[in-house]
Amino acid sequence: MTAQIIDGKAFAAEIRAKVAENVSTLKSKYAVTPGLAVVIVGEDPASTIYVNSKIKQTVEVGMKSFHFALPDTISEADLVAKVKELNVDNRVNGILVQLPLPKHIKEAAVIEAIAPEKDVDGFHVINSGLLATGGKGMVPCTPLGCLLMLQDTLGDMSGKKAVVIGRSNIVGKPMAQLLLQENCTVTLAHSRTKDLASEVKQADIVVAAVGVSELVKGDWVKDGATVIDVGMNRIAAPERGEGKVRLTGDVAFDEVIEKAAYITPVPGGVGPMTIACLLRNTVTAACRQASIEEIEL
Ligand code: NAP
Repeated sequence: MTAQIIDGKAFAAEIRAKVAENVSTLKSKYAVTPGLAVVIVGEDPASTIYVNSKIKQTVEVGMKSFHFALPDTISEADLVAKVKELNVDNRVNGILVQLPLPKHIKEAAVIEAIAPEKDVDGFHVINSGLLATGGKGMVPCTPLGCLLMLQDTLGDMSGKKAVVIGRSNIVGKPMAQLLLQENCTVTLAHSRTKDLASEVKQADIVVAAVGVSELVKGDWVKDGATVIDVGMNRIAAPERGEGKVRLTGDVAFDEVIEKAAYITPVPGGVGPMTIACLLRNTVTAACRQASIEEIEL
């Protein structure tokens, strides 16, 4: 079997088009223009590229974008004060503080300062709690993107066996919760899991969010499984020239494509979905804050 590739780039474009349509309706029917504030501390090149891409896409879908570039010498107290200022700014429906933060700032303190209803990253403890208890919170963007691709590809997932590899608060744990809500039987694997290959072998759905290049091999995967690769690993690529790198996933794509029914590529799979879901979450936040229920996301 050769797997069908799930085109995350195309799917993300569809989500952005839907977001733009919703933004247009919110403006014309309700006089609401959703606004997203992005806060970046310091000048990390990767974070700067990522933030610029978020700002560009926010503007493209017709939302207001607020950008705050703060020096890496800022104190934790001043950063928290900035977040609290945005919490009470009515033009701002979503607040995103780009991670990682400089070492002298406790990330948890900053995340917990964000008003949960404006926490479009879904990292606030209130939002993780709501996700774990089946409540209506904000769902972290990367696992939300994976879920939307799975729903679109598989439809009903009831009773399917899912293995999520990786238990981070931002990807693995929320992904497991989302699959549980889909009535999957979920195994959450991590670095201490014994015989990871045999766990994966039983799964109808595999989500790899590990950060280890090409960890999941072809012979680990059950025939006909659906494989979502969250990994984004930059590895040396001397064949491209000295000092060059290439992007790989956590799945050995060339092997697994011969076993799975569906697979996401890296790049072009989960990556583009993350920012699309950030925009979608901002619309969700704006609708909830204005008590608008009729917008279909
Ligand atoms: P993380 O916080 O470093 O967590 C990695 C998880 O993988 C941990 O739970 C760790 O287990 C587990 N792990 C590490 N080595 C393992 C092994 N050999 N076998 C089984 N489990 C192992 O990473 P993350 O933030 O969740 O990100 C994971 C990957 O997704 C990274 O490549 C990251 O770049 C990528 N990512 C992509 C997007 C996107 O938009 N596409 C977004 C976020 C992250 P322990 O808990 O036991 O240490």
